[in-house]
Amino acid sequence: MGKIKIKIDYSICGDGNKIDPRDCTICLKICEPAIFLLHPSLKFQKEDDPYDPKIWRVTPVYPSLCTLCMKCVEQCPENAIRIRN
Ligand code: SF4
Ligand code: SF4
Repeated sequence: MGKIKIKIDYSICGDGNKIDPRDCTICLKICEPAIFLLHPSLKFQKEDDPYDPKIWRVTPVYPSLCTLCMKCVEQCPENAIRIRN
């Protein structure tokens, strides 16, 4: 099996764009191996407001654990997840 690549479209979800991932979290809950992480952007500074929706993202941090069940792709309400194998 080749290397699995998982991409989130941050122009749709995260970074203060269409969806704030904290208001959705479907991919986080639905993924059995829990490969996604909800986190503030790496640009986040101590003095930034942690409640600012612009700083939040979901990142696939353990793509090698993905079972290719495709539940996240199917359930993402904004079609923001792409998986390539
Ligand atoms: S395809 Fe399944 S295992 Fe892979 S990231 Fe999505 S929900 Fe998780
Ligand atoms: S399911 Fe889609 S819209 Fe919801 S947090 Fe995950 S990537 Fe964002």
